[in-house]
This record gives sequence, structure tokens and C-alpha cells, in this order.
Amino acid sequence: MIQMPALFIGHGSPMNTLELNGFTRAWRALGAALPRPRAILVVSAHWYIGATAVTAMTNPRTIHDFYGFPQSLFDFDYPAIGAPDVAQEVVEVIKPDWAGLDRDQWGLDHGTWSVLAHLYPRADVPVLQLSINALKPLDYHVALGARLAALRDQGVLVLSSGNVVHNLRLIEWHRPTEGADWAQRFDEAARAQMAEDPSEILKLCEHPDYAKAVPTPDHYIPLLYTAGLAAAAGRSQSLIQGYSLGSLSMTSYNIGPDLSLPCEAEGAAALPEDVPADQTNT
Ligand code: ZN
Repeated sequence: MIQMPALFIGHGSPMNTLELNGFTRAWRALGAALPRPRAILVVSAHWYIGATAVTAMTNPRTIHDFYGFPQSLFDFDYPAIGAPDVAQEVVEVIKPDWAGLDRDQWGLDHGTWSVLAHLYPRADVPVLQLSINALKPLDYHVALGARLAALRDQGVLVLSSGNVVHNLRLIEWHRPTEGADWAQRFDEAARAQMAEDPSEILKLCEHPDYAKAVPTPDHYIPLLYTAGLAAAAGRSQSLIQGYSLGSLSMTSYNIGPDLSLPCEAEGAAALPEDVPADQTNT
């Protein structure tokens, strides 16, 4: 079986689901360049709970976990089937760590489907999610990511979906496709760390802009999984770079053979301006 890449995608606004912009075009190009996986395991910023769990239902529901967006986004459905057999494989490869099988609670949240709508628009590959255990220290997630590397040989694409820089309180509406100085500094430091030594990704926690870039860990932790996978693989490729609204980095990473894609993308979808940024759950 051909070894699958692993990816980190900076997902930005849920509206990217419905828009064709620089980032979503890059995601479409990426999807076209990827081998077809047996299943996709997603570590999404939006399943941040007090346990390590894997979805194990045969038909995961499309969850609309946000407020204030247009009805068309609430109407969006991503009808991929689940992969209970792969969920069992996840439980096995992460031992001695433990993960529970979720047969009826979660499903696919927008961290997953806003990206997969472009990577695999036909929704014809089974998808499952791994929760982010909010009770664990950050090094747990790096180590767990490294264990997931075994799944790459089983035809599973591991997709981490978050944003390296994600501060909704510092959004600058007048800078739709730019990053603030502090956001660029942190994103560039993350890129250097991923290139040089992803196993030491937690050095970024000492970066002077860390508190601004990572005010809460939910969107950052998916990168730690990709860092663990990169450390296991001995390499990583920075794929898509760019910023949104001053305080979001859209940078993505690929672990696997280099892919040729446009490096700079612009024009990520905006957020609804009439909703307080900290309530949009982007
Ligand atoms: Zn998000």
C-alpha cells in the first residue's frame, strides 16, 4: 500500500467552505495532487474536549458548530461515510495511550468539512475524527502525532485542521489578506521550527509573540500532531502561506513527498462583521 502524506491545513473562516479564493483554490489543487486514501483521520481544532476519542459511527453527521453565518453554510452537508474499522486501528496504534470510540456523539465539524469540501469535494473517502484532549499537556499531542505515523502506511491520510496563529480578539477587518507584524513573526518562527526540528515544536511556547498568536490552544494543537508526524518522517514541507484579517495564519504543511502548489495564496473568506469575533467559533 502506498504511504499517505499527512497534512496540516490552516482553515480560517468557515465561509471558505463555499468560496473560491486563493486558499481554497490551493486546497483544490492539493486535493488533485494527493493519492486517494483509504480513509481520512482529522484532528480538528473544533473537537476540543476532556477526553481522547475517535469517531466510530458509519454515517457521521455534518455538525454546524458556529453562529452568525449565512443560512447557506448551515445548509451545507458533507455526506462522507465513517470508518469504524479505521477507528479501531487508531485505538491500536496509539497504545499505551487510550482513546474511546465515539459511536453516537460527535460527527464532522467545520474544521473538517470546510477543508474537505475542497480537498475531496465528492465526499467519497471515509472520514473519522480524533478529538483533542484538552486535559493533556502539549507534549502529549506531539507524541500522539508521532504514533499516528503508522497509519500513513495503512492508507490513512492524517489531516490536522487549525491555524498556527489564531486570535479572534485581535482581528483587523481592514486587513482581509494581511497578517500583523506579530502574527508574521510567530508564523515564520513556526515555519523555521517545522523545517529545522519539528520534534522541538514546543520551543515555540517561549516565543515572545506566543501569547498573542496562541491565546487559546485549540487551533494550535493540531499543528503539534503534524509536528509529531514530521518528526517521525524526518521532514516537512511548508505548502500554502498567507494571512487573513491580521490575526489568522493560513499556513499549511505537508509531510510526505514534496508537492508543487502555489506558495502564496490570498483572499481567505471573511467573517461576519455583525457578530462578536469571539462568538463566531471560527
Ligand atoms: Zn476554526
